[in-house]
Amino acid sequence: MQIKVLGSHGSRMPGFNTSSMLIDGHMLLDAGTITSRLPIEEQAKIDIVILTHAHLDHIVDLSFLIDNVFTLRSSPLRVMAPEPVLTSVRDHLFNNEIWPDFSKLSMGSFPAMEFVPLKVDAPFQVGPYTVHMRQTNHPVFTVGYCFDQGDGSVFFSGDTGTTDALWTMGHHCPKLKLAFVETSFPNRLRKIAEASGHLTPEMLAEELKKFGRDDVPLKVFHMKPQFLDEIVTELEALHHPCMQILAGGEVFTI
Ligand SMILES: [Zn+2]
Ligand SMILES: [Zn+2]
Repeated sequence: MQIKVLGSHGSRMPGFNTSSMLIDGHMLLDAGTITSRLPIEEQAKIDIVILTHAHLDHIVDLSFLIDNVFTLRSSPLRVMAPEPVLTSVRDHLFNNEIWPDFSKLSMGSFPAMEFVPLKVDAPFQVGPYTVHMRQTNHPVFTVGYCFDQGDGSVFFSGDTGTTDALWTMGHHCPKLKLAFVETSFPNRLRKIAEASGHLTPEMLAEELKKFGRDDVPLKVFHMKPQFLDEIVTELEALHHPCMQILAGGEVFTI
């Protein structure tokens, strides 16, 4: 499994891009940043987009991706997520008002885009991976995922506040090799983090006790860039044995 971090922050500014991971060159986990990071040939290779939730920072570039590549495709771009997520994306983005409904745009024998609902909390198969999901604690329906390829798995928290089920799933990911976890606000903004379903470094430390996997390299993402210096200082003060704060552009191979 190869994971390329296209965007790892909770908002956009010059040098900071919203959440998106490219898996094996053809699969995306969230769609916050694509078209500003990949040339058109690489955009055209993406055939599956898996979404954690419908917040704009995780879906915005799906609009420009499909717009850029729909004439180059020989099959639909498959957008996979639990039904509540897809309903939001269809109703509020691809609704022929904000952006065209590319699932209705026929490319001859197939639509440009296809929405594939995932059964909540049920494992599904995508490429070589068995993927598990759990709902997180976030104001809209959101899930975290564990991608298991048999000889190793990778955990993605999605956006989340304090929760139990997600960390239980994470703890039990078989042969866990990497964990991507969110932290969005500095400790002094804990109330805002709680209200918006996010974590501060202090809250992350509490959640990591439930996770119970200090042996696994931790990749922190979704920092709000305007608070980055504070968040980094506070994360470093946790003295986690193998934590990396993502900046975007990293490539991991397991
Ligand atoms: Zn969110
Ligand atoms: Zn987000």
